[in-house]
Amino acid sequence: MYDITIIGAGIIGTLLAHELSRYELNVLVVEKEADVAEGASGANSAIIHSGHDPKPGTLKCRYNLLGNRMYPDLCKQLQVDYEANGAFVVATSKAEEENLDVLIRQCEERSIPFEVLTGDQAREEEPNLSPDVTKVLSLPTTGIIMPFEVAIAAMEEAMMNGVELKLDYEVRTIDRDEEGFVINGEIKTKMIVNCAGAHCDEITEMLEPSPYKVETRKGEYFVLDHMDVPFVKHTIYPVPSEKGKGVLAMPTIHGNVLLGPDSEYCQDVEDDSTGKGLDYVRKEIAKTVVNIPFNKMIHTFAGLRPHIDLNDFYIKEDDNIENFIHIAGIESPGLTSAPAIAKDVAENIILPRYKDRAVKAEYRRRRPFIDMRHMSDEEKAELIKKDPAFGQIICRCEKISEGQIVDVINRECGARTVKGVKMRCRPGMGRCQGGFCEVEVARILAEQLKEDVRDVRLDRKGSNIVLANAKEDL
Ligand SMILES: Cc1cc2nc3c(=O)[nH]c(=O)nc-3n(C[C@H](O)[C@H](O)[C@H](O)COP(=O)(O)OP(=O)(O)OC[C@H]3O[C@@H](n4cnc5c(N)ncnc54)[C@H](O)[C@@H]3O)c2cc1C
Repeated sequence: MYDITIIGAGIIGTLLAHELSRYELNVLVVEKEADVAEGASGANSAIIHSGHDPKPGTLKCRYNLLGNRMYPDLCKQLQVDYEANGAFVVATSKAEEENLDVLIRQCEERSIPFEVLTGDQAREEEPNLSPDVTKVLSLPTTGIIMPFEVAIAAMEEAMMNGVELKLDYEVRTIDRDEEGFVINGEIKTKMIVNCAGAHCDEITEMLEPSPYKVETRKGEYFVLDHMDVPFVKHTIYPVPSEKGKGVLAMPTIHGNVLLGPDSEYCQDVEDDSTGKGLDYVRKEIAKTVVNIPFNKMIHTFAGLRPHIDLNDFYIKEDDNIENFIHIAGIESPGLTSAPAIAKDVAENIILPRYKDRAVKAEYRRRRPFIDMRHMSDEEKAELIKKDPAFGQIICRCEKISEGQIVDVINRECGARTVKGVKMRCRPGMGRCQGGFCEVEVARILAEQLKEDVRDVRLDRKGSNIVLANAKEDL
């Protein structure tokens, strides 16, 4: 019997598991995909927003402000990257300048550090800003992370401290019994936390009519290769509209640049294909930046926002079912808000039911992924001397060695798919997008997992066709 079962290993589920792993509790996380962060948490803008734009009085506003302040320490603790790159919100007309003034007032009221710049002042720092930009709100506490890296690290540390994770485990039924709940007729648990993102309403409907309906809004992106002189250093937002934050240009932790997203209603909650939205992104982005190096485009992707009809996050114990907790409607700024939501739900909803459970006497910390980019030649030589696999380069675009790949497989919450390896240590993230190294990564996965290479999965959809075709090469 589990004390708590968390459904969904996105950023919310993994950070909640991490928070709960500090206590003497029996916690299970179930995830229908082959890895964590395969939903919205794996495909988004990766921005830790300052909190300048959510509507006053909303949960979005409250958790955004708190989460923004928590990220630097959280990332330090989890040993993952965080960069306070800062943001520019740019106005290109008188009407937009007036809307910018509303955001400036909100920054004052919310104690968010800011500066107001003229277009020319901003262009000194960001030469590729459009000449049409007349006024800029600069937000230095805006940051960037690698969202899947945070989720993976949180889950890894939670597991090192006793939390259990079941991947490839889809919740299909929930029944109630005298002690709590029974999931899929086999998992007994006293409490359920519903963090199923786009599927939160389906999970609730396994017990009762859902108080909210989730609909997904797709956002598509271009990914540009890293360049010697970065195209933008800050996150560049247009002035937000009723439709949301608009189309942005932002650097990533690894020096790529993302352009996007659009926001289109999408009937199929799993449809992450790209196409139509990219034309809109190309048109809109030209309003705020110029000299866009589309010839550096190496990839496109889409993420799906789980929007609910209540227009705010829905975070509470169910009105009718005791010990069934909703964390639903977590669209933007959900990534930013996640640590604050996890802490609040743990401290104010879950832990008061388990007052007798102590904080664990010992807590194990994870070690960071091995990143050879920042090592000196001497450090690299030392590593290769200990294990020659670190001298065997598998991904030539991103310069990732076999030793790094082996390391990300052989951990708690280790990679089980080619995409899982890519998300942890980047083979396939470069210009060739895995064209050269994918088969090698599959070979290493097969060796480490002791599987037949033809059974190694590429991604969450489980496809291994490419690998089957490449069988002769292996
Ligand atoms: C295009 C886009 C851009 C965004 N940009 C930002 C940004 O820059 N900054 C920001 O703060 N926020 C941003 N967001 C919002 C942020 O990404 C989300 O709020 C956040 O990732 C939601 O996390 P989650 O854990 O609730 O959901 P998810 O990450 O979707 O996780 C839910 C998990 O539940 C699993 N699941 C579902 N059903 C079942 C089942 N039956 N059984 C088992 N498991 C199940 C899913 O597989 C999934 O892994 C963006 C979102 C999108 C889509």
